[in-house]
Amino acid sequence: MDIINYTEEHRIFRDAVRKFFEKEVIPFTEEWEEAGIVPKSVWKKMGEQGFLCTDVPEEYGGVGADFLYSVILTEELGKTGCMGLATPLHSDIVVPYITSYASEELKKKYLPGCVSGEIITAVAMTEPNTGSDLAAIRTTAVEDGDHIVLNGQKTFISNGINCDLLVLAAKDPNIEDPYQSIDLYLVEAGTPGFEKGKRIKKVGWRSQDTAELYFSDCRIPKSNILGRKGGGFIMLMEKLQQERLMCCVIAQIAAERMLEMTIKYTKERTAFGRPISKFQHSQFKIVDMATEIKLGRTFVDKLVMDHMEGKNVVIEVSMGKYWIAEMAMRVADGCVQLHGGYGYCEEYPIARAWRDTRVMSIFAGTSEIMKGIAAKFMGL
Ligand SMILES: Cc1cc2nc3c(=O)[nH]c(=O)nc-3n(C[C@H](O)[C@H](O)[C@H](O)COP(=O)(O)OP(=O)(O)OC[C@H]3O[C@@H](n4cnc5c(N)ncnc54)[C@H](O)[C@@H]3O)c2cc1C
Repeated sequence: MDIINYTEEHRIFRDAVRKFFEKEVIPFTEEWEEAGIVPKSVWKKMGEQGFLCTDVPEEYGGVGADFLYSVILTEELGKTGCMGLATPLHSDIVVPYITSYASEELKKKYLPGCVSGEIITAVAMTEPNTGSDLAAIRTTAVEDGDHIVLNGQKTFISNGINCDLLVLAAKDPNIEDPYQSIDLYLVEAGTPGFEKGKRIKKVGWRSQDTAELYFSDCRIPKSNILGRKGGGFIMLMEKLQQERLMCCVIAQIAAERMLEMTIKYTKERTAFGRPISKFQHSQFKIVDMATEIKLGRTFVDKLVMDHMEGKNVVIEVSMGKYWIAEMAMRVADGCVQLHGGYGYCEEYPIARAWRDTRVMSIFAGTSEIMKGIAAKFMGL
């Protein structure tokens, strides 16, 4: 039984998205992997089609669509294997901070551009000295009249080179309690004192422009704060449910894609006079992976529905983030093994999929941090 009941409109939308990706993304993915970045023009094309920030209300240029449109976009993007085009990060993780917490003036200023693809966003929390322990960030935000002066460094920032607008986590050094001292600010690219550093060379997600960012006496208007002063930590916590759920969707679709390509390969490749899919070990391995994938699909679809109903599923989403990511890693490994030597060759898509899967238990909160959150909320 299907857990999610997609409507006819959803299906039509999925077809349109798939066709768009087949034409505008899949043929260029290799080129972008080599370049280490996706051109901004693709973002604008997606914006023209209404494929960015589908949940943004009409008054700010969006269509106020339900969350399933985000799920569809993320799943179809996952099927392309082009992990560098981080539009789910923009549409479903970063822009929601603006939609939920920015002042009316900031929403009017930035949201239409986020929807059209003129503005690409990023979120900068992680620093060289700290990732998991957000309270230990050192980037400072100090009031100076009508301005905030930013100083510090961020690393591992997805869309770091392409970004036009940043949601930055920084702390007020005059406030001792780390949970009260963090705020979120909007910082435009090009603001004096905000420098984009080098693009980080990664094992996978090579077409993603993950970068270091630097702030040196960078002055932004005081009004660029999101929410109330001192509320940064709470806002981050409030939005993490959706962020981690999107990670579940990404990992789940990756696992499904890898198994699909592996089943096809094992039916075509022969050894000892028969397709390798006919060996009992191959069959058992494939069934093992398919079973885990079905469990993941049931879990993630249920989480999507619960999230849409406004339920607090922090425990379950934390469990899903680590379990589905690690399941996808197990599937990646099993699929490479079934490809034999070709699984280790770049010209076979399973090789890149394997590299791209590894990071899923690390970013947006490691598996260990997810287990820690689940344990805490379970009262352990
Ligand atoms: C490709 C990529 C994209 C990213 N994109 C972004 C982005 O857009 N914005 C952003 O802000 N960040 C981003 N990150 C950063 C990412 O969120 C961090 O790498 C992640 O949170 C882990 O932090 P860390 O790398 O500092 O590892 P550390 O925190 O140093 O952790 C190292 C190890 O110690 C373990 N550990 C740490 N604390 C505990 C604990 N309390 N209990 C048990 N184990 C623990 C971790 O689980 C991990 O195994 C990205 C990272 C990557 C690789």
